[in-house]
Amino acid sequence: MPIKYQMEPGGPYYYVPELGVDSRCSKCYEIKPLNEFHKNKRKKDNCAHTCKKCDKKKNDKYRIENKEQIAKYRKEYRIENKEQIAKYRIENKEKIAKNRKEYRIENKEKIAKNNKEYYIENKEQIAKYNKEYRIENKEQIAKYNKEYYIKNKEKIAKNRKEYRARKKLFKK
Ligand SMILES: [Zn+2]
Repeated sequence: MPIKYQMEPGGPYYYVPELGVDSRCSKCYEIKPLNEFHKNKRKKDNCAHTCKKCDKKKNDKYRIENKEQIAKYRKEYRIENKEQIAKYRIENKEKIAKNRKEYRIENKEKIAKNNKEYYIENKEQIAKYNKEYRIENKEQIAKYNKEYYIKNKEKIAKNRKEYRARKKLFKK
């Protein structure tokens, strides 16, 4: 909690950060507890830095303004470091899978919302892409479907049976 501080009796109150407990954001000038700030190893004192909220705002603005450049840079990076990335992925397979799973669980609602928004915004493009993909990969998809059917024959039969049973139930 910031310390309430009065210069003179009857005068205005000032809030000052309690040392080591909270800090003032250099952008919004709000005094906030230290957990509202990202840890900044480069700065030893906690006086001149921005809070998480302001950091996020700044990052979001940057991402929006530089969307194309960031995408271009990422793509270049992926191409240039293809082998290293592939190696890293193989070596850390389990760790990555674990992180992804945790992220998905923690951000379930956020991901669903983002996906939905993305789908709505890019509906036509997605449909076009899917169609092109289906045409280009016709044989592979047919092969995959066949293999999938063979592998999951029992499961599919069970699902169909359950589906029919449910349908019947609703008809009544
Ligand atoms: Zn701030």
